[in-house]
Amino acid sequence: AFDVLVVGGGPAGAAAAIYAARKGIRTGIAAERFGGQVLDTMTIENFISVQHTEGPKLVAQLESHVKDYDVDIMNLQRAEKLIPATREGGLHEVRLANGASLKARTVILSTGARWRQLGVPGEDQYRNKGVAYCPHCDGPLYKGKRVAVIGGGNSGVEAAIDLAGLVAHVTLIEYDSELRADAVLQRKLASLPNVRIITSALTTEVLGDGAKVTGLAYKDRNKDEPHQVELEGVFVQIGLVPNTEWLKDSVTLSRHGEIEVDHRGETSQKGIFAAGDCTTVPYKQIVIAMGEGSKAALSAFDYMIRLPAE
Ligand code: FAD
Repeated sequence: AFDVLVVGGGPAGAAAAIYAARKGIRTGIAAERFGGQVLDTMTIENFISVQHTEGPKLVAQLESHVKDYDVDIMNLQRAEKLIPATREGGLHEVRLANGASLKARTVILSTGARWRQLGVPGEDQYRNKGVAYCPHCDGPLYKGKRVAVIGGGNSGVEAAIDLAGLVAHVTLIEYDSELRADAVLQRKLASLPNVRIITSALTTEVLGDGAKVTGLAYKDRNKDEPHQVELEGVFVQIGLVPNTEWLKDSVTLSRHGEIEVDHRGETSQKGIFAAGDCTTVPYKQIVIAMGEGSKAALSAFDYMIRLPAE
């Protein structure tokens, strides 16, 4: 059995594995795709102390750092079920899609999240070439340009306010007849001179010239009329979905499906910790995920040394 079994191999999981292994305890990491969202990222300019890097490069460095330690890496393994120990200090069980069962004294859940996609033509083609999902990450790349934000919930309106301070103009597109964000955010948005709000609009296509985004097509749902907006960037803000569907019977999740953790990263189950984008901790970022992963590993170690001797 493992002392610490990490499920998920993004920045949170890699940090957790390194911190755990540095305590000299038996550490394993099972990941569906080692690297996680970072593999899908082009430019990274906010990983503090590294001015500029690229996703695949950072993933290679994460992997080589993990491999410096005695960590059992199980890549391309999807966890399907978590069965918490029935008594404190007992072994938790993680079942994998390949039929294997892993046992561990502590588990760190770091299965991340995925951005909900529009599913319209052009979105995949121009991903990282004008189509973006993270305003904190990619906002500065659009300085002085025109962008659209799709989605009028809290994250969409926050993104539009944030971007309005950086870019030339923001068009906020909402499918519904009104925005769903908190009133205070809506008031702030309405006060900004370089923002246009379009409601009852169904985004139909991301337009481009083959190399990058040049505009957005939408349909006015009231008049059933097609429209186009010329712009250089599209931020999709229609939801971040945590990869926690497999955990709903084993740990407490928020109504958004995020794993609830306390300030030490512990879940509702003793000895089961969680870190990164799959948790309730706000601001989904690489540095934050790494910090939380490290914290969860230290918490798991603290938990273990307090267990009674077998
Ligand atoms: P993830 O990176 O999502 O990793 C989750 C891991 O869990 C993966 O290994 C996955 O395969 C695995 N997994 C999922 N389900 C299971 C399962 N059932 N069983 C086993 N394994 C599973 N952040 C920044 O700070 N700066 C940026 O510039 C930046 N740009 C971004 C650009 C894009 C396009 C995207 C999508 C995100 C960007 N982010 C950026 C956000 C950043 O990537 C995330 O905050 C970070 O990767 C979260 O780390 P994580 O380890 O919590 O989860």
